[in-house]
Amino acid sequence: MSIVRVALDVPLPTLFDYTVAEGIAVAIGQRVIVPFGRRQMVGVAMECATVTEMAPGRIKPVKQVLQDSAPLSAELLDLLRFCSDYYRYPIGQTVLAALPTRLRSDKPIVGKPDLSYRLSASGAALDIESFPKRKVVQRRILSKLAEQPCNLAQLKALSATAGKQLKALEEEGWVESYASTPSLARPLQGGEEANVEGYIFHGAHTLTGEQRQAVDAVAQASGFACFLLHGITGSGKTEVYVHQMHHVLQHGGQVLLLVPEINLTPQLENYFRSRFPEVNLISLHSGLSENERLHNWQQAQAGSAQIVLGTRLAVFAELPRLALIVVDEEHDSSFKQQDGLRYSARDVAIFRANQRGVPIVLGSATPSLESYHNAQSGRYRMLKLSGRAQAEARLPAVRCVNINQTVMHHGISENLLREIGQRIARCEQSLLFINRRGYAPVLMCTGCGWLSGCKHCAGKMVLHLNDRRLRCHHCGYQIRVPSACPDCGNADLHPVGSGTQRVESVLQERFPEARILRVDRDSTRNKRAWQIMREQIHANEVDILVGTQMLAKGHDFPALTLVGVLNPDSALYSSDFRAAEKLFAQLVQVAGRAGRADRPGEVLIQTAFPDHPLFRALQAHDFEGWAAEQLAERQMAGFPPFVYQAMLRAEGKRETEVYAFLNHARAAAIGLKQNVEILGVVPAALPRRASHIRAQLLIQSAKRKGLQQFLRVWQPLLDGLPAHKLRWSLDIDPLEF
Ligand code: ADP
Ligand code: ZN
Ligand code: ZN
Repeated sequence: MSIVRVALDVPLPTLFDYTVAEGIAVAIGQRVIVPFGRRQMVGVAMECATVTEMAPGRIKPVKQVLQDSAPLSAELLDLLRFCSDYYRYPIGQTVLAALPTRLRSDKPIVGKPDLSYRLSASGAALDIESFPKRKVVQRRILSKLAEQPCNLAQLKALSATAGKQLKALEEEGWVESYASTPSLARPLQGGEEANVEGYIFHGAHTLTGEQRQAVDAVAQASGFACFLLHGITGSGKTEVYVHQMHHVLQHGGQVLLLVPEINLTPQLENYFRSRFPEVNLISLHSGLSENERLHNWQQAQAGSAQIVLGTRLAVFAELPRLALIVVDEEHDSSFKQQDGLRYSARDVAIFRANQRGVPIVLGSATPSLESYHNAQSGRYRMLKLSGRAQAEARLPAVRCVNINQTVMHHGISENLLREIGQRIARCEQSLLFINRRGYAPVLMCTGCGWLSGCKHCAGKMVLHLNDRRLRCHHCGYQIRVPSACPDCGNADLHPVGSGTQRVESVLQERFPEARILRVDRDSTRNKRAWQIMREQIHANEVDILVGTQMLAKGHDFPALTLVGVLNPDSALYSSDFRAAEKLFAQLVQVAGRAGRADRPGEVLIQTAFPDHPLFRALQAHDFEGWAAEQLAERQMAGFPPFVYQAMLRAEGKRETEVYAFLNHARAAAIGLKQNVEILGVVPAALPRRASHIRAQLLIQSAKRKGLQQFLRVWQPLLDGLPAHKLRWSLDIDPLEF
């Protein structure tokens, strides 16, 4: 009997056995449809076997083998097995989560999405003028196809009935369809080089000495090597990637370029396209339609996409000719998925490069302390870019304003307002950066100190002035702004903390003539809106920009010469030991926006702690010194990267049940007597969310292997604990505390 073990999207840590009928062949990695309970599901064949532990009467046959897309490679399946094991997530859910949505559904994908249409030989010979005039839509389709082959979506744009008319044309033999999915390319054998003409590669600069070294080091790497490209903002890291990629493309390889989850992806895509105009570059990110994502994924799988640019999910793309991985802004926390399979795309990428035996480049102006530590200890190779690529571009001057020793106007200091005024007079732009984490405006009663708390969460509700509502950003609960304090009846309620809207109104009052642009999630919900804003900024139609994180990243605004940082201090006394690291990275990034072109930039930081080492290091542009100090502190305190951590989180309606579960889990951990440190059960940073109590238990170990061994035996015990009405999850290498 022939048995196949199938990965299914169900929360159980096993594969499921099915029989394969005589005469049917199932290849490993192929998608199959199988009965599961009363339903039928799509799964992936992971293993073949001849014996099963299932009772002969209970085992069922595979219903259908889907032939509509190439089987997943053994290499990808290995990668997914590793992820399932490392992140302690069910194998079936891991495998299915890695696939584009279309491949997870049991609807066959054959045909429709990837068919293109063109004129047949007789269609091409036809004189359209002689075609019956009353067949308006058919005529339109024929003349469109005479220009270029099209897919169904393009033709449907001509008319709502295009689908039906197209069919008629096909039946009459004027039009034919063909599969536009490229045929599978054969993976390169070891040592073999594809015969590819040198690609045109546009606008290359003459590399600086440091850039040259970085490019050569990677080009000369044989087999796996992990490089940390540490370059200050404007040092030309992108230029280095482009040259490294060029080298790989010339040898017929594929490049995987991972970028953070931000709405910069289309811009980056255009940029790299312009540098490699002859190369097939595709993107993979959550903003694509299901069909686009499938189509792009298939091009990567076929080897016909030479550059795959994507956010974290792209790390699971099939890449038969993969020869280089680049992770830009490697420190960015969006590489870590915060639910389901809680993977770090950066770390998975490193595993993947190792599995493949190819180099990987992690780039950043402010590397994560994990990566920096690895580079210092020699596990990674450090590549440094210490100067700006364009000689005339200087680093901005950074100054602190002590908020306790200056006049403040609703959160903005007089000094900063004066500087902004000067910029307006010189037709230069200013950017006010708000670190919103924990600092959104909430409502406070001046009488009794009441704060606008959310009734379902431990958090505060945020004031939204435009529709006069209080909203909880954790659970979505909202109410109208109360006219008086619910506790003492006092009518004098004031906003505290600064949000973008409040800052905007203060500025408008002081500079009535100024053109102010607010850039945050609310104002850029619509993709097009953000595009228009960028054009306005570039056309110098804006004097002052007010924004959050979004503005910190990767934009080149030549007229911007002043950056004001409004409220960085909350990160200095956060309970999250990574808060300072994140703040430093954010401030370096936002400071990098000032003075990119020939005009020198200036950064003004409003703080109550102007002598704090973080600000000192920032002023001196001294990442090394700052990182050394942070690492020493982490080592003393026994924090990552000197230990490896796993977090068990639980939440539920009843506090007693949540804590009982975690305490049982803790007792079970202690009972295993393994060499790991088991901390106490504590409330989560947000102890209550949407009426659910949240708590956590941290496990750590000086050895990654030791922690993994422990987790492998601990998790089955957790699965056995009573957890009725609770939700719990394990987070390996957690970033959020
Ligand atoms: P980073 O990614 O490190 O912040 P970029 O790659 O964006 O820096 O480079 C900053 C600017 O310097 C860009 O305008 C880029 O075109 C330019 N640049 C990069 N390398 C060179 C070079 N070797 N010579 C001149 N200009 C360069
Ligand atoms: Zn009150
Ligand atoms: Zn809430």
